[in-house]
Amino acid sequence: MLILVINCGSSSVKYQLVDPGKAVALVKGSVERIGMSGAVLTLQRSDGHTGKFGLEILDHTVAIEQILAHLVHSEHGVIKDKSEVDAVGHRVVHGGQQFTGSVMIDEEVLAKIRQCIELAPLHNPHNIRGINAAMRGLPGVPQVAVFDTAFHSSLPREAYLYPLPYVLYRRYEIRRYGFHGTSHRYVLNRAVELLGKRAEDLKVITAHLGNGCSMAAVDGGKSVDTSMGLTPLEGLVMGTRCGDIDPSIILHIMGREELNLSEANTLLNKHSGLQGLSGISSDMRDLIEESKKGDERAALAINVYCYRLRKYIGSYAAAMGGVDAVVFTAGVGENSALVRARACDKLGFLGIELDSEANEAAVGVEADISTAGSKVKVFTIPTNEELVIARDTEQIVNEAG
Ligand code: ADP
Repeated sequence: MLILVINCGSSSVKYQLVDPGKAVALVKGSVERIGMSGAVLTLQRSDGHTGKFGLEILDHTVAIEQILAHLVHSEHGVIKDKSEVDAVGHRVVHGGQQFTGSVMIDEEVLAKIRQCIELAPLHNPHNIRGINAAMRGLPGVPQVAVFDTAFHSSLPREAYLYPLPYVLYRRYEIRRYGFHGTSHRYVLNRAVELLGKRAEDLKVITAHLGNGCSMAAVDGGKSVDTSMGLTPLEGLVMGTRCGDIDPSIILHIMGREELNLSEANTLLNKHSGLQGLSGISSDMRDLIEESKKGDERAALAINVYCYRLRKYIGSYAAAMGGVDAVVFTAGVGENSALVRARACDKLGFLGIELDSEANEAAVGVEADISTAGSKVKVFTIPTNEELVIARDTEQIVNEAG
């Protein structure tokens, strides 16, 4: 089966044409700067062929049309006809309380995804645009929604409820939802395979450290806690997002700096985290580089980031009453030995012992980076959210018969 995986942002569409049976992407790429001047479509085929095309792309519908045109292109394409696309799998950020797993998209599902816009105004509208555009470009082809939140729908009430007036939960569904679910699910399953045990018997902590960062506590194969909340702002220190702060700080700063809601939102989401602390960059590579040259604020930002990672690992071990494995994934988690070492520092009392050579050697690869004697195994596992979306899509299409 060939699955077109679509991930729509406000001005971008990332895509992959995946054969889930063989676990390969025939081609992957993106369309950037939709609706702006200088829109670009890029592609990278599995045989190494690449392309970059400047195009006029006014909206998501044109973006998807162009992606399809390049899939069948005589020189750059990978298939002869778009009828070879068996189904489309869409990343949808927020599934609210409605969706606990991936689903075939129909009018009713679309209406429910629209209802979730209230919970994710920055994300779901673009996902819906992508779904509509793909339905137009590939009429009659099954479309499946895979939600970032679904993996965390197993959270128990004590983990998902905030200590606010309960009526707010009832009225507005204010609760922890969690995100990066497809990534946590993928690396969890790989860790279970690497450990050669049953998921039911394992307690695993997964850390997705990209531009956005989140951690999950997975007990018996089920997510029982996660660091992101109602929105992807809570929890760990991120590239530009603050993660956990005293909620009163927001009210305090809004008053002192005379910020309106939208400005406060921008401050917390775009000017905080590594960027805000360092004043240099949201990119961990830059900060490591600058701190090596002696920049104190870069070093400070890395310290705050790693300290919070360690606190979360400790708290999730406590939440589950133990831990068998810790997994690092995404840009920082897969590549930065320094961050992993700092995050696991002082955790010997939990049975976490890193093998420093193995840790240094693990760059963008799957590896066991703990010592042979470490009670808790520590892995780096490159994530593959698109493969999870493609596999779910295949399964749902097969089940629909
Ligand atoms: P996104 O969330 O946008 O998918 P990624 O998973 O690609 O992001 O992660 C981006 C982050 O990974 C950036 O902060 C980048 O600096 C960091 N990163 C990538 N390679 C390295 C590396 N070798 N060392 C440290 N950080 C890295």
